[in-house]
Amino acid sequence: MKIGILSRKPELYSTRRLVEAARQRGHEVHVIDPLKCYMNITPHRPAIHYRGENLEGFDAIIPRIGASITYYGTAVVRQFEMMGVFSLNESVAVTRARDKLRSLQLLSRKGIGLPVTGFAHSTKFKNDLIEMVSGSPLIIKLIEGTQGKGVVLAETQKAAESVIEAFEKLDANFLVQEFIKEAAGRDIRCFIVGDKVVAAMMRKSKEGEFRSNLHRGGEATPIKITPEERTMSVRAAKIIGLNVSGVDILRSKHGPLVMEVNSSPGLQGIEKATGKDVAGMIIDFVEKHARPGNTRTRGKG
Ligand code: ADP
Repeated sequence: MKIGILSRKPELYSTRRLVEAARQRGHEVHVIDPLKCYMNITPHRPAIHYRGENLEGFDAIIPRIGASITYYGTAVVRQFEMMGVFSLNESVAVTRARDKLRSLQLLSRKGIGLPVTGFAHSTKFKNDLIEMVSGSPLIIKLIEGTQGKGVVLAETQKAAESVIEAFEKLDANFLVQEFIKEAAGRDIRCFIVGDKVVAAMMRKSKEGEFRSNLHRGGEATPIKITPEERTMSVRAAKIIGLNVSGVDILRSKHGPLVMEVNSSPGLQGIEKATGKDVAGMIIDFVEKHARPGNTRTRGKG
């Protein structure tokens, strides 16, 4: 097969591993920088050019679209879909996953357990917003944040009000969320391929930190998840519409809660923690499902 990996950084661990796994299986693989693609918008023979050449003959693409280039990146994915090329994750699903409010609304509509969450653009009634999500201590998150940046734990009502005020002043989109104290600085990353959790790890924050992000010095260990966590994470991925995703779960006293569904989950942490060939499993999935025109949306929506 001829596979394109849409990634700005060929040197990244995840990109390198996907290239390696595809080559091992005898495929031709190209790393394509989505920002260097240009396209014609036409009902007949839509095309994508890259550095002066027509990108033709691809059987599948694997989007690894960074959060900062979601808009243009998903447009490139959509163009491939319009050309009938199979995309591992479809553009609509990636767009959904990138919009945290939209994702949480979709998940809650389908009854997936979530931390109690509220959002506002601006309000004089900060007390009321804080009350809506069960008071302090409270988590306040920038919608555009990644790697734990922009996630604040406000221990008191006063602190929560000040942080909300500051975010409003910056005109930033944010959400407020019940603090799951009993998670004790741990969360679970379920790596989903198709309808299976193929690997799972627990991330534990370093001393004195509530955020378990590996980028923030968190540690990862393999973990056996419960049947409930398994079912829940697979359902969450399906609701967002992603074939490959990383579903983050917090263990609360009321059971597991989904925190986030990631559309370009990193491979380094999960492969190192579990010793599993996750990249290989992704390519196996592509082999099984990539057929011309096998895109649910064909670029619609
Ligand atoms: P990002 O997408 O920037 O990584 P997250 O929403 O995943 O932001 O939050 C970063 C970390 O903060 C999580 O991995 C988790 O350890 C912790 N965290 C986030 N939300 C909550 C919450 N509601 N209760 C307890 N801990 C949380």
